[in-house]
Order: sequence, then structure tokens, then C-alpha cells
Amino acid sequence: MSRPIQAHIDLSALRNNLRVVRRASAARVMAVVKANAYGHGLLQAAGALRDADGFALLDVRDAVALRDAGFRQPILLLEGFFSRDELPLLAEYELTTVIHSRQQIEWLDAYPRKNGLAVWLKLNSGMNRLGFAPQEFPAAMERLKSHRAVREVTLMTHFALADEAPGVAAQLTLFEQLTANRHLPRSLANSAAILRHPASHSDWVRPGIMLYGSSPFADASAESLGLQPVMTLSSELISVRDIKGGDAVGYGATYRAERALRIGTVACGYADGYPRHAESGTPILVDGKRTRTLGRVSMDMLSVDLSGLPDARVGSRVVLWGEGMPIDEVARAAGTISYELLCALAPRVPVRR
Ligand SMILES: *Cc1c(COP(=O)(O)O)cnc(C)c1O
Repeated sequence: MSRPIQAHIDLSALRNNLRVVRRASAARVMAVVKANAYGHGLLQAAGALRDADGFALLDVRDAVALRDAGFRQPILLLEGFFSRDELPLLAEYELTTVIHSRQQIEWLDAYPRKNGLAVWLKLNSGMNRLGFAPQEFPAAMERLKSHRAVREVTLMTHFALADEAPGVAAQLTLFEQLTANRHLPRSLANSAAILRHPASHSDWVRPGIMLYGSSPFADASAESLGLQPVMTLSSELISVRDIKGGDAVGYGATYRAERALRIGTVACGYADGYPRHAESGTPILVDGKRTRTLGRVSMDMLSVDLSGLPDARVGSRVVLWGEGMPIDEVARAAGTISYELLCALAPRVPVRR
């Protein structure tokens, strides 16, 4: 027997969540599979999402791997290319690139090929991360529309506040002003905008987190949005003990029992990707019942409260997140978001699909 921790990836849930996107929007769907498909495994996730109209990611090697695996859809490089040396590869594999900087246009200028590339020109509409400033954008658009190395131009921007107030209005208005009457395809919406800002859907939507079954909103559960968890991280109790009132649990003795208590030790720690910052009291399932973590998470183990679980014993199944235990609740208790937990699943955790 090996260590009992594992991550189960439910590919049918991924397909369900793509249907939720389709119901919310008639736009074409650019499925975001960056960061190893948010930790779910790039090729397997893309396989389950093969009905998507395109895939978006960062690493050109991953893009090539998708092409080599037979995917024919547009594959979009969200940060574009990082040097002119990459341009022949983009052409060879028919990869679509974001253009977000003047430097990238200069590299294109020096590229001899004719009518090669599909590009997505990015406007910085307020995120101030990537993209052309509003005053630079029209010139960049004209430059690319008539560029000999460019076959087709899509216009894009990215929202900073799609999931909270005051929302997308200011960024949407700016983007619309700068792209009106251009007759070019457009793309703005991430998961939050897909679900709450239909006016932003335009030609292509770019769902990420919702595909993986997590809510983009602090005020709405994934379940209430019709989303199913894709990744379930589970393990087992490997030790059970009784402690007395006043006894402490774990490093730093941060939890001290008020009264006698039965506790269990779970084979899962921060080296598996469980957040060390999850506080005492973070929800967790043992034998399908909700209980709470106790004390600090250590590298390979964490402790749970077994009061109210008289049948729990060594070998009892523990669900850290996923089926029956929303990852969004665990993330909140750790002061982070589900994205970070999903991406941080450690390579040492065996994955079952
Ligand atoms: C990551 C990303 C998305 C997807 O965002 P979610 O919040 O996961 O839906 C969309 N567009 C861009 C440019 C991104 O970087």
C-alpha cells in the first residue's frame, strides 16, 4: 500500500461545466487551460473540453503539445511571444498570439513571412498589467490590420473587477469606444463576466475557473451556479487518538483542546498542496461528514476533530476539497482563492481520472 492521498479528476464534471458556459453565452468559447489546466492536467482536460472552440494558455511548449495531440482549434498564447525567435514556431504550429506591447510589434516587423499569424491585440482598459494604453491602441490596431505578417486580428481586453463592485462598466465602455465599427472579432469575458455581465460576451468568451467547478464570486457557491467540482483531493486517517482538555495539537501548539477530544491525523500536508495558512476550524470531510481541522498544517499531515464521529478510525476516508467539500470554502479559510489551491497541487500527489 502506498500513501493514501490522491487527486481524482472528474472529466464528466468538466464537460458539465462547459455546458454551463454554453448556456450562459452564445459566444465562441476559448477554454483557458493555463497552468496545466489549473492543475488538472493539460492534455486530459483539453480532451474533456474538446468541444471548446479554442484553448488559451501561456507556454508555447504546451501549445505545441496540444497541436501534436491533434487539437485543430485556435490555440491562444495569453502572454504572446517572448522573443522574435519564437515566431517561426508560432507559424509552423498555427498558434494564435496575444500582442500586448510595442516590442512585440517590432519583432513582427522584422519577421519576413507573409500573412502568417492570427493575433489578438490587447487593450489595457484598466487592469494595468498587459496591453496597449487607450491612446496607443488605435495606431496598433491599424498597424496590425495592414501588417504583412498578420492574417487576422481579434481585439481583446481583460477585466479587473468582473467578480465584484463596481464591475466592468468603465472598462467595457472604454473598450467599446475604441473598437466600435472596426468589424473585428472581440473578446473580453472571463468566468465572472460570463456569469454576471452578458453585455461583455461579444464574439469570444474566455472561461477558466468555472470550467474547473469553482465559483468566481465570493457571494455565490459553485453549486448555486450549476458548476460541479472537477478535482477531489482525498486521503485517509492514518492515526487516531484521545487528548485531554488543555492538550495542544501540532507545531506551535496553536490549538489547545478545551475538553477531552478524539482527534485524527490525515496523510495530507502543505507538501501535497494543502494550504499551510488554513486555520484551525477549516472545514473538511471525514467519512462523508463535515468536521474541522485542528492546529497548524504540517508538511505531510494535518489534524482533524473527530468529536461527533464515533465510527471514524484509521483508514476512514477524508476529503480535503472537491466532491461534497467546496474548495472555495477551504480557500476562504486559508485567506486565498481556489485558483491558487488547484494550481498548487503537488506533483507527488497521484492523480486518478
Ligand atoms: C486566466 C485568464 C482568464 C480566465 O479567468 P477565470 O477567472 O479563471 O475565468 C481569461 N482571460 C485571461 C486573459 C486570463 O489570463
